[in-house]
Amino acid sequence: MNILVINAGSSSLKYQLLNPDTGVLLAKGLCERIGIDGKFTYKADGKKTLDAVDIPMPTHSEAIQAVLDALADKDNGVIASMSEIGAVGHRVVHGGEAFNKSVLIDDNVMKAIEYCIPLAPLHNPANLTGIRACQKVMSGVPMVAVFDTAFHQTMPPKAYMYALPYEYYEDDKVRRYGFHGTSHKYVAGRAAAMLGKPAEDLKLISCHLGNGSSVTAIDGGKSVDTSMGFTPLAGVPMGTRSGDLDAGILQYIMNKKGMNIDEMLNVLNKQSGVQGVSGVSSDFRDLGNAGKEGNARAALAVDMFNYGVKKLIGSYAAAMGGVDAIIFTAGVGENSAEQRLAIAGGLEFMGVKMDEAANNVRGKETVISTPDSKVKVLLIPTNEELMIAMDTAAIVKG
Ligand code: ADP
Repeated sequence: MNILVINAGSSSLKYQLLNPDTGVLLAKGLCERIGIDGKFTYKADGKKTLDAVDIPMPTHSEAIQAVLDALADKDNGVIASMSEIGAVGHRVVHGGEAFNKSVLIDDNVMKAIEYCIPLAPLHNPANLTGIRACQKVMSGVPMVAVFDTAFHQTMPPKAYMYALPYEYYEDDKVRRYGFHGTSHKYVAGRAAAMLGKPAEDLKLISCHLGNGSSVTAIDGGKSVDTSMGFTPLAGVPMGTRSGDLDAGILQYIMNKKGMNIDEMLNVLNKQSGVQGVSGVSSDFRDLGNAGKEGNARAALAVDMFNYGVKKLIGSYAAAMGGVDAIIFTAGVGENSAEQRLAIAGGLEFMGVKMDEAANNVRGKETVISTPDSKVKVLLIPTNEELMIAMDTAAIVKG
C-alpha cells in the first residue's frame, strides 16, 4: 500500500509518496507560496525533476491537486491513478493530552486538533488546512494524523509537571509535552532492530540534533523524559533558540531594555542559541569552520551545545537507572563526527567507549562505539516521513 505523507505549513506543503512495507520512496516534493502564486517541486527516481515551476495555488486544495496530478502524470508520474494511494498520513504538531498515538481522522479528531490550537498557534491551524484540503480533493481516502507530541505522552507526571501552581496544569494545560516524537520513535525502533533486542528490554537515549534539537529518554520503548517542554523553545541551545534558562533573566532584560514579552520571546526564539552566542551563524557547519579559523565565540557556542547534550545523557542515564544505547540522529547527529565525539567521548566511566574510526562516517546506520563498549552508541539517520507512513498503514490495515 502506498501512503502519501503530507506536512502542511501555512503557505507551504511538503509531500512524499512512500511504500511503508518496502521503505521505498516513490516521489517527493514541495508546494510553496500557497495563497500568493504557487511554486511546485517534484522529484522521482528516473523521472524529470520539476523545480519550483509556476502552478497557481490560491489555496492548499490546488496544491494537493498539483501533487496528485504530478504523481499520476502519464509520462512523469509514479502511479497509474489515485486509487494506488491507500491512505494519507498527516504530520500534526500538537496533540496535547488528547492523543498518545496516531489516529484515523474523523470529525471528533478534527475538533480535538482544533482544541490544541492555543498550544501550537502557528502549526496546528496549517496542519488542519492541509487535512481539509486533502479531504476535499481525495474524498473517500482514509486520513491519519501523526502527532509530534504523541510519543511523549507516556512520560510520568514527575517528568512532565512544572513546579508551578497546580491549576496552571489543570486549567491551562501547562506541562512538558515534548516534540520530535516521530523521529525519536523511529530511531528507537531502528535501534532495537540493530541491537537485535525487543524495545521492551532496552533503555535508550535518543539525541535528535539538528537546527532544533531534543534529547529523549526511552525506557522499554516508551518516552519517559524529553528535553523540549511546553514549547520547542526548551532544552539544549539550538540554532536560534535559547533552550533552558533562568526565567528571572526575562524580567531583568525586559526592564533594562524596555522590551515587552513578545519582543523578548522573539529574541529567545530567533536571535539566541548558537547564533546568539557566536554572532556568526545558526548553522553548525559555519560554526565548525569559524571555530577552526580561531573564532572563539563560534567555538564556545558549539561547546555549549555539546555540553548541554552531554549533561542530558548523564541525567537521563541516572533517571532510567542505566542506558543500553545512545542514538545520534538529524542534521548534526548524522553528519558531525566531531560533535558526536565531543558529546559521547569522556563517558567511559559510565561504560561508553567511542570508536573514533567507526565514528568517522556520515548519514549511515552504524555502530560507532567499540565492540567492548558496554553502552552502544548508534548513528541512525532519522526518517519521520517513513514513520508517518508506517503508522498510517498500520492504522488503515487495522
Ligand atoms: P531541522 O531541525 O531544520 O530539520 P536538520 O536536522 O536538517 O535541521 O539539521 C540542520 C543542522 O545540521 C544545521 O545546523 C547543519 O549545519 C547541520 N549539519 C549538517 N551537516 C553537518 C555537518 N557535516 N557537520 C555539522 N553540522 C552539520
